Amino acid sequence: MPFGNTHNNYKLNFSVDEEYPDLTKHNNHMAKALTKDIYAKLRDKQTPSGFTLDDCIQTGVDNPGHPFIMTVGCVAGDEETYEVFKDLFDPIIEDRHNGYKATDKHKTDLNFENLKGGDDLDPKYVLSSRVRTGRSIKGLTLPPHCSRGERRMIEKLSVEALTSLDGEFKGKYYPLKDMSDQEQQQLIDDHFLFDKPVSPLLLASGMARDWPDARGIWHNEGKTFLVWVNEEDHLRVISMQQGGNMREVFRRFCVGLQKIEHVFKKHNKAFMWNEHLGYVLTCPSNLGTGLRGGVHVKLPNLSKHAKFEEILTRLRLQKRGTGGVDTAAEGGVFDISNADRLGFSEVEQVQMVVDGVKLMIEMEKKLEKGTAIDDMMPAQK
Ligand code: ADP
Ligand code: MG
Repeated sequence: MPFGNTHNNYKLNFSVDEEYPDLTKHNNHMAKALTKDIYAKLRDKQTPSGFTLDDCIQTGVDNPGHPFIMTVGCVAGDEETYEVFKDLFDPIIEDRHNGYKATDKHKTDLNFENLKGGDDLDPKYVLSSRVRTGRSIKGLTLPPHCSRGERRMIEKLSVEALTSLDGEFKGKYYPLKDMSDQEQQQLIDDHFLFDKPVSPLLLASGMARDWPDARGIWHNEGKTFLVWVNEEDHLRVISMQQGGNMREVFRRFCVGLQKIEHVFKKHNKAFMWNEHLGYVLTCPSNLGTGLRGGVHVKLPNLSKHAKFEEILTRLRLQKRGTGGVDTAAEGGVFDISNADRLGFSEVEQVQMVVDGVKLMIEMEKKLEKGTAIDDMMPAQK
């Protein structure tokens, strides 16, 4: 990304000790996995498109930690990154994805009919439901590494594919550069659009270069099916709506996604996928399904309970603020979503959200009445 490969060779004039990053204050998966030996072994390598070890790790070097989430601390620049730098990525993937081994196989299940229930999350507590994933177009480098030309090609291909959708998916593309600041802010405030690239994690990874060139959002008329173009991944596909009908959100997600994949295939463009990593995406934390299914849910009492964190862990869920990954919760409303991406199918992950959120709402109702919830503690999923 920022430096050419001549520069990567130039750095070899310095010893491993002289080049090795200072990770002493760090708490991310990359910093845990990287050793001087691994650095020495990988530092002169590059992928076919020229992504280097220092390109992978820069974001984790510059961002020692995060208040809510144990961050990954590295990114991929292309599909081959995961192979060329596997000595670093395999342990990170294992650590981040609950012991997922280099020999493990991932399962994909995008058949929404396999989901049990999910259409009745109490709308008094669940304000909105959402499922998203990412997709990468094979043969093109990923956002931390892609050039302006490539990025514009991704935009062009995506708009062509999306324009051909009809029925409930009929929609329109809105490039960021044609939007007024006000229009953009309104879409962000309404939770439809990615935030401006202010997060240090995003900036240090190189994903925000040339902003807002070739970035945009496509959405259907009802803003219930949306596709982000060239944010953290080539594509981010989102299904969302007000209230607690996660089943309907997941149905629209699966159907729309399969339609998009079909159109790309007709253009001879496949999505990056393999049976070990599932869908290949920019951030190792999203490998597998890339799916984050979540609700904005009111939990003012439960969130203050001493066991809140433990309940989330046992249900395999994570919390975020309602403005997105770098925000804090406001007024007891949290974004609660699946913690896993790899090793569980799409259906299994959404099932965990549906079942887990149901239980948490029951707990919240008990706490409202001043009743203890000790007998409701779930087992570790
Ligand atoms: P992701 O990386 O999964 O897209 P972020 O945490 O970056 O999620 O948030 C992106 C945007 O999506 C933010 O505006 C956030 O408020 C919105 N969002 C996430 N989950 C929901 C939800 N369940 N309901 C409404 N908006 C949501
Ligand atoms: Mg995000």
